[in-house]
Amino acid sequence: MERILVSACLMGYAVRYNGSDKALISNTLARWREEQRLLIHCPEMAAGLHTPRLPAEIDGGNAEQVLAGTARILESDGKDVTQHYVLAAWLALRAAQESDCRFALLTDGSPTCGSQHIYDGSFSGQQLPGQGVAAALLRQHGIEVFAESQLAELVQRVAAAEKCRVVDAG
Ligand code: SF4
Repeated sequence: MERILVSACLMGYAVRYNGSDKALISNTLARWREEQRLLIHCPEMAAGLHTPRLPAEIDGGNAEQVLAGTARILESDGKDVTQHYVLAAWLALRAAQESDCRFALLTDGSPTCGSQHIYDGSFSGQQLPGQGVAAALLRQHGIEVFAESQLAELVQRVAAAEKCRVVDAG
């Protein structure tokens, strides 16, 4: 059975920077949860960040450059929080690997969990195509990452992967 790492805020936990959740109401998620397929995880909370916290955005590059040490993540007051966010990414990877998750469903737009778009670093609400540091690190290690808008695609990928496993086992 495939297991899936899921952003905690998508599952209704109020762990976002502003103290809110981003609950995704879905029969599929409810069934997967009952089947104990879901690893519910907030990388930023795991890394010791508190709720509420200031919003943070990638500055001067992209997620891969943050992981490589050539770009930063700043809070809206200018504080450099790169190390916390890089730790968050590595903790997400470790959690996924320890639970044998080959898929992740992450909240889009976040400097950590974003997988389709992120904010542009100006704290003006402008978005760019891009990903957050956890999504980038998971992908670098072969984990397929989906945004909440791609749940239907994820369902198809999980079904296809399970079919392959059955064929391989047979
Ligand atoms: S780090 Fe991910 S799981 Fe945690 S609040 Fe941000 S988007 Fe949600």
